Amino acid sequence: MCNECYSNQSRITPILEPEKCLRNHTQYICSICGRCICIEMDEKRGLRRWNFPFKTADIAKLYLRVAEVCTGKCCGIYEIISDKGRKSYKIFEDKETAERYLTKNKNKQYRMQMIYQTEQYREYKKSQIRKLDDSEIEKYLKEQQK
Ligand SMILES: [Zn+2]
Ligand SMILES: [Zn+2]
Repeated sequence: MCNECYSNQSRITPILEPEKCLRNHTQYICSICGRCICIEMDEKRGLRRWNFPFKTADIAKLYLRVAEVCTGKCCGIYEIISDKGRKSYKIFEDKETAERYLTKNKNKQYRMQMIYQTEQYREYKKSQIRKLDDSEIEKYLKEQQK
């Protein structure tokens, strides 16, 4: 597993429409493995990808590093179970933020538990936050297909 971005698949992201994401969105570029993680702010909603629910904990983990960079601290992955038993996964910077989210959505009668958390927030000076240029995008997409 990459110490910086918590994945052992260095080209797994972006998952959906990778070319569109790489062309249009600002990426966090892992300084160890080179993985690009979308860090673009959705202006309308004021949220980034990591703020939204994920289908699995594994996918959420792919975005954990950008959550930490945005908040400047350790973040955790929380499993949220709806009253109908549906599971989703969300990243929160701490328990209080997670609980606030549940309170706001209490009509759905969620249950929640923290299932993964990093122990220490680390800064990686050589990591970059920027858009890729055309040749970098081409190279990355090729590597993704391997
Ligand atoms: Zn994106
Ligand atoms: Zn990495």
